[in-house]
Amino acid sequence: MIALSLAEIASVVGGQTHDIPDPSVQVTGPVVRDSREVEPGSLFVAFAGERVDGHDFAQAVVEAGAAAVLASRPVGVPAIVVDDVQAALGALARHVVGRLGATLVALTGSAGKTSTKDLIAQVLQRKAPTMWTPGSLNNEIGLPLTALSATEETRFLVLEMGARGIGHIRYLTGLTPPRVGLVLNVGTAHIGEFGSREKIAQAKGELVESLPAADAGGVAVLNADDPLVRAMASRTQAKVLLFGESGEADVRAENVRLTDSGQPSFILHTPSGCSDVTMRLYGEHHVSNALAAAAVAHELGMSADEIALALSEAGSLSHWRMEVTERPDGVTVVNDAYNANPESMRAALRALAAMGKAARAQGGRTWAVLGKMAELGDEALAEHDAVGRLAVRLNVSKLVAVGGREASWLQLGAYNEGSWGEESVHVSDAQAAVDLLRSELRPGDVVLVKASRSVGLESVAQALLEAG
Ligand code: ATP
Ligand code: MG
Repeated sequence: MIALSLAEIASVVGGQTHDIPDPSVQVTGPVVRDSREVEPGSLFVAFAGERVDGHDFAQAVVEAGAAAVLASRPVGVPAIVVDDVQAALGALARHVVGRLGATLVALTGSAGKTSTKDLIAQVLQRKAPTMWTPGSLNNEIGLPLTALSATEETRFLVLEMGARGIGHIRYLTGLTPPRVGLVLNVGTAHIGEFGSREKIAQAKGELVESLPAADAGGVAVLNADDPLVRAMASRTQAKVLLFGESGEADVRAENVRLTDSGQPSFILHTPSGCSDVTMRLYGEHHVSNALAAAAVAHELGMSADEIALALSEAGSLSHWRMEVTERPDGVTVVNDAYNANPESMRAALRALAAMGKAARAQGGRTWAVLGKMAELGDEALAEHDAVGRLAVRLNVSKLVAVGGREASWLQLGAYNEGSWGEESVHVSDAQAAVDLLRSELRPGDVVLVKASRSVGLESVAQALLEAG
């Protein structure tokens, strides 16, 4: 982070200094909430959680070199004491981003935030020093911590923002006001908490409402293919830039196809030209994510060629999202166990099918190890049935449906579509899937592992990789 003295920090957050012999001591680096991440010059933020109380680590972090602790009570070592640690962390982030010379880019959406954030970061980094949210740290604590990791050199700060309710994004944009705001899609994630897709759209649209007006540089990057996102154009004073397959999109893809290895390839069109892209990432849902990233990069001054090259070379920075690993014995594991929704299930199955063409030529088979897609409400049966059917239509060799009721719907879809008997198996849990696959897999096979987060199927992918 940019260097700040303890006195300055105390003043910014409205805190009292305790046990600080020299308030001119500077905090030079990272602001952390995990005591294991403390480095010399750190500020340690003590949260009193339900299971762990950060204040208990105060002594240890100072011994490890922390300059001070941001705390809600005196802790016997150098501390800045405030009533509300979270509010203080937010105020500090707000202060620091105001002093940075960086352009803030924020993005939200129901699915693909982290994937797209990683793409944007990898594209922008080619132009100028860029910092971004690590993993999915997109809430009221992760966001300010990310913002505080920026330095004087940082030119672009790319921030993932998550919403679990109305007002959340407004709070986050208050801490780190973006100049460029991107909304990817409005799906059904967290629909239980929101009630309806319209409510979700209302919450996500707070991002574009927060943007500066067009003449002050504000830019709203919106998905032209998602009606609820497209409609957000009327909620912003910022300039609107559309991405998507729709003909009216400013940034769009033509000739989209999957290569034999399952990677999307397309011609990128931007207002400043077009250029060919063949991604290293797997699954066609990344086309939309790539277009979103391209729109942001175009707005920030990159040419179509520069963007296309960066998108073609970009890898995944976050785990368990179409992570493709070949075992020494020639079995390929595609770990997409981070999460699932109907759209990404279909995209993952199509990628598997594309990879299967090459595998089959060598006698290999394709396996779809799938678990439930959560939060689908009344659509759950139809959507699982449709995925089971799609597996048959794509010529996947074997379906392993893992879990309870939803898994049986997957299997039933396959049965109804293709009279699948032996080709599909229903197992009760991850361990049963591992046991089955261990005995069945042979060199040349490709195995896709995917389900909603709550199913935890990454354990299957990990066990398969260890077994290799
Ligand atoms: P979280 O809310 O957990 O932070 P996220 O929005 O950051 O999720 P990612 O982590 O990028 O999303 O992706 C989660 C899952 O969503 C991936 O496993 C992938 O299958 C799917 N996904 C990614 N991009 C898209 C997209 N554009 N449309 C639909 N699904 C997508
Ligand atoms: Mg995320």
